[in-house]
Amino acid sequence: MRIAYLDRTVHETDGEPKPNGGVSTLPKSIDLQGSVETGDKTTIASKDFGGLYSTKPLALIKPAGSDDVSRVIKAASRIPRMTVAARGNGHSINGQAMTNGGLVIDMRSTEENHFRLLNINGSFFIDVSGGALWENVLTRCVSGFGLAPRSWTDYLSLTVGGTLSNAGVSGQAFRYGPQISNVTELEIITGKGDITVCSETRNPELFFGSLGGLGQFGIITRAMVKLQPAPDMVRWIRVVYTEFDEFTRDAEFLVSRDDGESFDYVEGFVFCNNDDPVNGWPSVPLDPVHGFNQGIIPQTGASVLYCLEVAFHYQKDDHPSNVDKAVAGLLKPLRFVEGLKSQVDLSYVEFLLRVKRAEEQAKANGIWDDPHPWLNLFISKSDIVDFDQTVFKKMVKDGIGGPMLIYPLMRSKWDNRTSVALPDSEIFYLVALLRFVSRGPSVEESVAQNREIVEWCIKEGLDFKQYLPHYQSKEEWKRHFGNQWTRFVERKASFDPMAILAPGQNIFKRTHLS
Ligand code: FAD
Repeated sequence: MRIAYLDRTVHETDGEPKPNGGVSTLPKSIDLQGSVETGDKTTIASKDFGGLYSTKPLALIKPAGSDDVSRVIKAASRIPRMTVAARGNGHSINGQAMTNGGLVIDMRSTEENHFRLLNINGSFFIDVSGGALWENVLTRCVSGFGLAPRSWTDYLSLTVGGTLSNAGVSGQAFRYGPQISNVTELEIITGKGDITVCSETRNPELFFGSLGGLGQFGIITRAMVKLQPAPDMVRWIRVVYTEFDEFTRDAEFLVSRDDGESFDYVEGFVFCNNDDPVNGWPSVPLDPVHGFNQGIIPQTGASVLYCLEVAFHYQKDDHPSNVDKAVAGLLKPLRFVEGLKSQVDLSYVEFLLRVKRAEEQAKANGIWDDPHPWLNLFISKSDIVDFDQTVFKKMVKDGIGGPMLIYPLMRSKWDNRTSVALPDSEIFYLVALLRFVSRGPSVEESVAQNREIVEWCIKEGLDFKQYLPHYQSKEEWKRHFGNQWTRFVERKASFDPMAILAPGQNIFKRTHLS
């Protein structure tokens, strides 16, 4: 199909750099196999899951494949100050997949382009489109081949390209590293429009730069993801701690053990020591019939308590007593409050799709589409006690209207050649404050509190980084990347010399590259 004439209708409303002139100087026609939406049909690209920002793109491109993406980037590079943003499933919080007055490339339209199982010297990989949803990768790999990727996010309605542009972290990352540690090859359309295949040995700068690269070096159109045999079943368990030091000691013990000597998934969260249905005791049991026996908690219990969440994989034909024995052995050294344990058995796919069930409920309750002023941080082990004392026990002690995740990760499972910025210590914690505003403080209060938390971390000199970062000024980006800043800038200059790929994060604007 020949797509012609993208009429420029966007005005300069927010001080962002915009293409020159009243009418787009995009080529009068770009030969695309896919389609171009303008006007009201771009609405989906004007917002994201966060619901905090809205922008007006010039057009929403639905590419048929890599050639289309390449053509769009090449065309955009000829227009002064035109920008391009890849959009996965738009589940960012702060407009990371948006561009005001620019072109948004909807990668979901490429989902079906690649899905191929590869067996390389006995190891299995799935070659998938950058626009594929992880939930579809999961179900197709398990039902088709009995195999599955090793490292996940908690929620899977996210695209392969979207999570690889950040990291992709969940309770398996302590063992296998984040999702970016589990890909071996990418096809990327660089900011010059070149269609490039890259890996650890082939174009490694582009490969590592793009992993965690915030979409700043190129658009991921294909990824080769490591697979492993999928278990049939999962025993999912939650246990409760009153003391932070006991919670962290046990969580760190589990993530530091060798393969085969620990659970297959380790996460945790903070909850309020009260009967609040969203923030308190009722948020803990995995099955409401289990209830929560708060009578066991010492009267001296603090304002918040801690829940360690673990999972154990097994096969359907494993004898139940063997599963019980293995799980009991793993729980034995842990010092949780006896009597505050909840567990369910479910299929591996159901377990990985657990947040989808929560999404369905939230949609039924009409709260899924509310704004989500979420904050994600990586905090060094050395500073996590201070963080607990000040943030969990004081600033958010009454809850935030949603989960407050906290679990340890191992830096040695991350590749420091990627673009992700991490704290320095070997063990660091992921902390995620996942607010649903209809259940807690207002959007403004939540945003202000997030800012207060980040400012407190900076003032106290904590060794921390924002995960899924978003800043407006170059100074903030420089601080974020620290000694990785120069490498990031050089990679950007090399793969996107015209700074075409400049979505809402404003890391680089076309008018000032560094
Ligand atoms: P988008 O939001 O559309 O894009 C994200 C960024 O990637 C943008 O900068 C965009 O330009 C870029 N991008 C998108 N596609 C491509 C591509 N093909 N090539 C290059 N760049 C691209 N994260 C975790 O790590 N662990 C979790 O457990 C987790 N849980 C989540 C739960 C929910 C309910 C939500 C909403 C988010 C969660 N996230 C989690 C965060 C999520 O991983 C990121 O927000 C991710 O970027 C969203 O994926 P997306 O496909 O919607 O990407």
